[in-house]
Amino acid sequence: MSGDAVINAFYSHDYCVRTRNGGMEKLAGVAEAAAQSPAITIRDPGVIDVDHLFRLHDPAYVRDFLDGTPPLARSQNLPWSPALRTAVLAMQAGQLRATEAARCDGIAVNIANGFHHARHARGSGFCTFNGLALVALAHPDYRVAVLDCDQHGGDGTEDFAARLPNLYNYSIFGTSFGCNGGVRSVIDPIEKGRNAERRYMAAVARACTQIRAWQPDLLIYQAGVDCHMDDPLGRGPLSGAGLIQRDQRVFEFCRSEGLPVLVTLAGGYQAFSRTVDLHMNTFEIAAAVYREGIGEPAVAGVAQPVADG
Ligand SMILES: [Zn+2]
Repeated sequence: MSGDAVINAFYSHDYCVRTRNGGMEKLAGVAEAAAQSPAITIRDPGVIDVDHLFRLHDPAYVRDFLDGTPPLARSQNLPWSPALRTAVLAMQAGQLRATEAARCDGIAVNIANGFHHARHARGSGFCTFNGLALVALAHPDYRVAVLDCDQHGGDGTEDFAARLPNLYNYSIFGTSFGCNGGVRSVIDPIEKGRNAERRYMAAVARACTQIRAWQPDLLIYQAGVDCHMDDPLGRGPLSGAGLIQRDQRVFEFCRSEGLPVLVTLAGGYQAFSRTVDLHMNTFEIAAAVYREGIGEPAVAGVAQPVADG
């Protein structure tokens, strides 16, 4: 992809449903902002064959969620409704469509979240089904690496990494959330405090080195913004400029390695417009890196990203 780079971003109005924390309402705002960008084309996620989910998760859990049967249908800590079911299924479909697009174009986005805490037999932490592990299950011939930069550890993905030999998880976080490291699951916790932003960037560099060594066919990048210092649920170490630096490092790594990357939003819980801006920065940085190529000014000529202290 070069010149007039266009990044396919998957989204439908079905994704957006009312939640307790605004974590899914933000998706509509991000999609609306993304649609204004000349670098991004919004694509329909299509429909998922639920057989994938029955093979990925405990079938009893999948059945209870689809039927709305408590307690499992609410195990992710969201109020169950037919609209939530529709949203969850649409976002899983988007994962598979975006995987195809990433493999074709080098990069694609699913304007979705709610994946990495979902375990084999239940949901957790606003996550119903694990759309990261789903990609590995649906493509047993791909080696799928996840770089999880949400401020909370990807415990659900860790569960699935032990089950799926073609899934690898690298989680950089401040709160482990039960993600302790394990089979094909590496943890890199970052304590707050002195030089935390510099230590975070060192962790990103370590992640790139280890992911390269595992030789994946696809990277799924959980570009969470709840590791921003003002996030009420994350309280992480990064400034706005730090998030931009992180994203740029990851995209330059993927581009230079020829490693297709699927970007997901993950967490981010500040005020609506602030959260949308932070996620849009990720898109703008991606567009710049894929437009300009490595070794050229990465952010020249794009909308000025929001950077704060
Ligand atoms: Zn989080």
